[in-house]
Amino acid sequence: MSDAFRSLFPAFEAIDCVYLDSAATTQKPQSVLDAMQSYYINTNANVHRGAYQRAQQATEQFEQARETVAGFIHAPSASNIVWCKGTTDGINLIANGLTDASWVTGSRILVSGSEHHANLIPWQQLAKRRGWQLDILPVDHNGIWQLEALDTLLSADTAVVAIGHVSNALGVINPLGEVLQRARLVNALTVVDGAQAVGHLDVDVQALDCDFYVFSAHKMYGPTGIGAVYGKTACLDALQPTQFGGEMVVEVTYQNATFQPAPLKFEAGTPAIAEVIGFAAAVGFMQQYRAQLQTHERLLLEALSEAFHGIDGVSMLAADGPRIPLVSLVFEQLDCQDVAILLDRQGIAVRTGHHCAMPLIAALGHTATLRVSLGCYNTLEDIQRFALALRSAVQQLRNDTLFPPPGPMPT
Ligand code: PMP
Repeated sequence: MSDAFRSLFPAFEAIDCVYLDSAATTQKPQSVLDAMQSYYINTNANVHRGAYQRAQQATEQFEQARETVAGFIHAPSASNIVWCKGTTDGINLIANGLTDASWVTGSRILVSGSEHHANLIPWQQLAKRRGWQLDILPVDHNGIWQLEALDTLLSADTAVVAIGHVSNALGVINPLGEVLQRARLVNALTVVDGAQAVGHLDVDVQALDCDFYVFSAHKMYGPTGIGAVYGKTACLDALQPTQFGGEMVVEVTYQNATFQPAPLKFEAGTPAIAEVIGFAAAVGFMQQYRAQLQTHERLLLEALSEAFHGIDGVSMLAADGPRIPLVSLVFEQLDCQDVAILLDRQGIAVRTGHHCAMPLIAALGHTATLRVSLGCYNTLEDIQRFALALRSAVQQLRNDTLFPPPGPMPT
């Protein structure tokens, strides 16, 4: 099936590239591109306003997409889905919407030590604004959450628990269920960053029983610029909108405005209509191939886990436990960036750096890692090419054949 998946992605027709950076953003299947183009050609009109047929069709497609995305994560209803620009925007929407947090009890926020900056900084800044305390669930030397610390960190004073489903820097699938259950016992509001989960795992927000779940379309074969905030009805009702303007209002006078119920009260202005439609097409793609996709990814992950064995001085962070097809590598006495440049020269695209999880990478004693992350379009041949290229890059750098020490000064 692997080449069959690849053939659904026109990005690979044009260039011969081993794309190993899907955690940053995935490539898009033809079906997503077609859905967006078809909207622009056939039904392009603004939503929720026009009385004419084309506007009604656009609104129907737009609201149908909300149903589709709700179904994808098993939300009870489409009205539990708020469109946002992506995970960063969605988490900010929640944190900023807590400006009036009278419906939340407590004055402490708990985040894990392995969060992406998008699920750290909005809470850090909210804590600063409100004079609340930000608590960090510590990680061990592998980046794994130290759950025993919850005994002291969680209390009736914990207002919010904001945690990631899957670490974008390590690939680890976090023990989300256990933390959510403990958070519920102290009545904390729970927010889950699902950015790296939705492209790989089955997500059921009702089974998780979290208050909010946030994700981006572009990490699951959909377009950029669109994402979703799932919220329980009572939480969306209580949360304040932070953007104001057209579309989200019921009645407006010079002095006052009343707002639509959720989700519309959070969606001021013209939304990203084509992107919403592309998002629904991406869900369609994932639902159509769900089983094959997961089997194929398991196969790729097994091969990837072997790819760097036997190469001196290369190790993988957080090697044990359940993970998505993403690995983070570090090199003894080599700079990740040098390795990545040599890989790029061989047509291999990987990412290096702190992966927007600077405190985590620092806690593990590094400044950067080389991250390899897969999508369904990758093949076993891609992994072989990566393994060979990695071996050759490390050898070249170790032998210093690229940057030989300067010879004797000319006399
Ligand atoms: N959280 C995680 C775990 C991520 O991997 C990312 C994307 N790198 C984000 C949040 C932010 O997503 P976006 O850039 O789509 O807002």
